[in-house]
Order: sequence, then C-alpha cells, then structure tokens
Amino acid sequence: MYYPEPISKLIDSFTKLPGIGPKTAVRLAFFVLDMKEDDVLDFAKSLVNAKRELTHCSICGHITDQDPCSICQDETRDKTYICVVQDPKDVIAMEKMKEFGGKYHVLHGAISPMDGIGPEDINVPSLLNRLKDEEVKELILATNPNIEGEATAMYISRLVKPSGVKITRIAHGLPMGGDLEYADEVTLSKALEGRREL
Ligand SMILES: [Zn+2]
Repeated sequence: MYYPEPISKLIDSFTKLPGIGPKTAVRLAFFVLDMKEDDVLDFAKSLVNAKRELTHCSICGHITDQDPCSICQDETRDKTYICVVQDPKDVIAMEKMKEFGGKYHVLHGAISPMDGIGPEDINVPSLLNRLKDEEVKELILATNPNIEGEATAMYISRLVKPSGVKITRIAHGLPMGGDLEYADEVTLSKALEGRREL
C-alpha cells in the first residue's frame, strides 16, 4: 500500500517498538495525524528528553538523570545489602514493594549462550569492584526465574563465593519462566522474604 513518505516513516518507527505489529503501527500513525499539534510536540519532546537526560548510574547501573542515582546517594539505605537485578524496571518493581532498604545492582541483561550473551556482556565487572570497595554482607540475586536468570545467578554465585560474602537467591512464590517486573508486590515481597543461601 502507498503512503506519503512522512507517514510511512512514522509507521516504520512504530514498528520498531516491542509488541507493535504492522497493523497497529498504521493505526497509531494515523492516530498521531489526528492528534492536536501541541500534544504531538509534547509526545516527541518526552521521547527525546527521556533518551537524552537519562543515563546509567556509574555505581549501580540503574537509569537516572543524576549520577550517582538517588538510591546510591541515599545514606539512609543499608549499603551492606545489594540486590542484583537484570533490568532497571526490576528496581522500580522492588521499590514499589517498599520493603527493601538496601542498594541495587543492575546487570542490564542475563547470560544467554543461545543469544551469544556471555558474562562479559552484562554489568558484572562493576559488581565485583563494588564488592571489593564496599562493605557488603549479603548479595541477593534477584535475576528472573527463568533459564537465563538462573544461569546468571549461578555464575555470579560461583564468582563471588570465594570472597565470603553471603549470597542468597530469591525463590519462593515466583513462577518459573516469569519476569520479575510483572510479579505483583505480594509475590515479590514473599520471594525476597523466602530467599535462600546459595
Ligand atoms: Zn545507582
């Protein structure tokens, strides 16, 4: 089908988003054409600003508009606990739960040999540095309860074990194959409570 170039470009852009198929992309593109110009400008600005103003915290890897992030800067949090997660969205899920008062470390992925993602491709070296520099008593491995998440937890556990830091893995209540960010707060809270030592 023929579309004028500006709209076919817009359709292409929508197609790049996760979960958006060609039909939805067309529908969204035409929806944008019907929006008020101010709303479209606001939308475009939010996209650009989110990308430009957010960076990764140099300590924990969480997304932030200031470096270090507000969690790393917060002196009231217990820095002897580090909760290791795969994704910034997992930090937000954990924070919503309001039960964890420690610090985080965001891996930005998980080990997945099938996809060619090895330990060197995720944010592990900075975690090891933190364990050297900070007085960490417990590392809570909260990677996703699926094959990649488990493999990553085992890898980190083996790597860190010799240092004597206590390593625990959240387990209880999280469905296998699931994603941490989609777990409800009660399930996540139970999972943290029921963590076991590795
Ligand atoms: Zn941080």
